[in-house]
Amino acid sequence: MTLRTVTRDELANYLAQTLNIAQYRDYCPNGLQVEGRAEIGLVVSGVTASQALIEAALDLKADAILVHHGYFWRGEDARVIGTKHKRLKALLANDVNLFAYHLPLDGHPELGNNAQLARQLSLAGSDRFGEEKLGWLGVPEADANIATVGDLALLIERRLGRAPLLIGEPGQALGKIAWCTGAAQGFLGDAIAAGASVYISGEISEPTVHLARETGVAYIAAGHHATERYGVQALGAHVADRFGIRHQFVDVDNPV
Ligand SMILES: [Zn+2]
Repeated sequence: MTLRTVTRDELANYLAQTLNIAQYRDYCPNGLQVEGRAEIGLVVSGVTASQALIEAALDLKADAILVHHGYFWRGEDARVIGTKHKRLKALLANDVNLFAYHLPLDGHPELGNNAQLARQLSLAGSDRFGEEKLGWLGVPEADANIATVGDLALLIERRLGRAPLLIGEPGQALGKIAWCTGAAQGFLGDAIAAGASVYISGEISEPTVHLARETGVAYIAAGHHATERYGVQALGAHVADRFGIRHQFVDVDNPV
């Protein structure tokens, strides 16, 4: 068996183009965040570049780590101390690259978190709403066989392997469904304005509950991690296919 590799720069350029990174105004740099070795044969993907993910990638002898949540967020402490020091030291000492794609990975029409969540939940997206048009609006696919908000919550539990939190009446009829992965509870108002009968995101906050109750639009908090497992997996599989390299997704469990 011959093991193929791609250069770090070729991979970075390909991902920049494929994910259209220049199009987004984001809270972090998208692309190569930490430079490692020049040749990449194995990519380990994960949701967040935590210490646990880095250690799993080192055990697997990965050349690059590909994540949705990387480092260097706007407003964070810039000092390289504590957990940040530990993470960066592990990457740099082992010459492992870190590639991170935040909003560009949420937004990609096929490989993105919202597109991949739709696949998991058998939803057909037709419209977009909200900031950077990251929110999706659609309906269940014909074979999904769901009619109420409760049916949708049950489908989410089965497909994502995690019971979601439903704010609303389970018996409420499903109209248009809106969704946006991660911490997009702030889009509930936009989802309502877009005509949704129910809105699915990852996290939930105190005001979310009241807005849902007072408007009669149901809200489903399906988990930040649980809703964002799929984009980075699809992206990792895509680059493995494109360049003939190896890819492995590592799911570091997170109940949030
Ligand atoms: Zn996220």
